Amino acid sequence: MRFTIQNVLIATDDGYTTTDVQIIDGKIAAIAPHLDVVGTAINGSHKLLLPGLINAHTHSSEMWQRGIMSPLPLELWLAELYDFASIDTEQIYLSALGTAVETLLSGGTSVVDHLVLIPGQELETIAAAVRAYQEVGIRAFIAPLIQDESLTAGIPSGDSNRTHEPFLRSTAATLEIIETAIKKFHRPDEGVSMLVAPTGIQLCTDALFEGCIELSDRYHICRHSHLLETKAQAKLALEKYGGSAVTHLNSMGFLSDRTSLAHCVWLNDADIAILAATQSTVVHNPLSNLRLGSGIAPILKYRQAGVNVSFGCDGASSNDSQDLLEAIKIGSILHNITDFDYRHWITPRQAIEMASLGGAKGLNMADKIGTLTVGKIADLVLYDLTNLSLLPRTDPIGLLVLGRPNNIVDSAWVNGKQIIANGQVTTINVEQLRQELFNRSQWETKRESPTVAEIEAHYRKVMGL
Ligand SMILES: [Zn+2]
Repeated sequence: MRFTIQNVLIATDDGYTTTDVQIIDGKIAAIAPHLDVVGTAINGSHKLLLPGLINAHTHSSEMWQRGIMSPLPLELWLAELYDFASIDTEQIYLSALGTAVETLLSGGTSVVDHLVLIPGQELETIAAAVRAYQEVGIRAFIAPLIQDESLTAGIPSGDSNRTHEPFLRSTAATLEIIETAIKKFHRPDEGVSMLVAPTGIQLCTDALFEGCIELSDRYHICRHSHLLETKAQAKLALEKYGGSAVTHLNSMGFLSDRTSLAHCVWLNDADIAILAATQSTVVHNPLSNLRLGSGIAPILKYRQAGVNVSFGCDGASSNDSQDLLEAIKIGSILHNITDFDYRHWITPRQAIEMASLGGAKGLNMADKIGTLTVGKIADLVLYDLTNLSLLPRTDPIGLLVLGRPNNIVDSAWVNGKQIIANGQVTTINVEQLRQELFNRSQWETKRESPTVAEIEAHYRKVMGL
């Protein structure tokens, strides 16, 4: 696996330069003008080379319900999602393929799949997703979504006395499944890494978090969770812990430099200081936060406090696409309205760095991917700067982030292996995927969720609506 990209545009500190890039054995071997051609020569003229971006939080199987979810806040939205979430492992496989392809075609080379598990077929679910990601060739971080409390426990009680059904599986049985999955599927050198991923404080006991911390330490794997996505969760944390969820997670030892936390909308300044001190990573999911009305995450505050921030699409039932560049655009300019001091605003170059190096840091991969650096793994994306959506010629990164680029990925490599060439995925048959997605679905309109009907009155009451 050797190739040389010739005459390609790359970013420098203050501009761009045209250069050659040599890739040998999956790694960046040299970056300089007029290099000898090793292996295949690739014409990089009028193209921009960037490190692959990282879709640092999604739930692939939500693809089956995109576009149809009611406009509801997370707690009610989840109830509707689960009422209609009956899918099989073949659908898990197909939606993982779909998620991978959309991520790749919007500049991503890695995906963190906070994977919803089919009850009773947990390992089969993970196997189906692993198979899909390995076939496509995208770098996959599979974070099986686990909880040990039932859905209604995720809503604050207020002054009502509520009891909840026990969760369908014991905490110990869940941890056993995760340990088996780690042993079976954690193969970082082959592009598949497992993460421990309790869904969040709203549906997990301390015992589950502690079990995950123990597995993470024993097998040296990263940690992932949702954190304070909604106002209801902040309220719930008060009821559950008598204080801040962040303080509680920190006292358990869950926060670390290999912990990434999705959303982080409802954190206060003391919480932010804890994230900075523990070197935790925030995964910003702006489209999902808008779609579910969760709020605007204080991203500029995180950056000023030195907290690492990356970007995610979140699942396609709350977005409803997997267009990483769209998430980066909205997730950058959204914050201009949160701070009048324009010197704090996120520039397009900073946004790209957050989505590449920032994503890598949160996955403990900053020494391996995330920048164009000699010695790093060749997870690379080549953008076609002659595409209509990137013309006329101005600042390529500026237009890539702030414009509405489409069909602009010419080539992508993961671990030095080319998986997109001439704008087409080379590893799987996308036409067949399209057919399968079509055949296994149907046009639908609004549905009635029985669980939403059941819990809505309580939700409205406790949230003061
Ligand atoms: Zn999520």
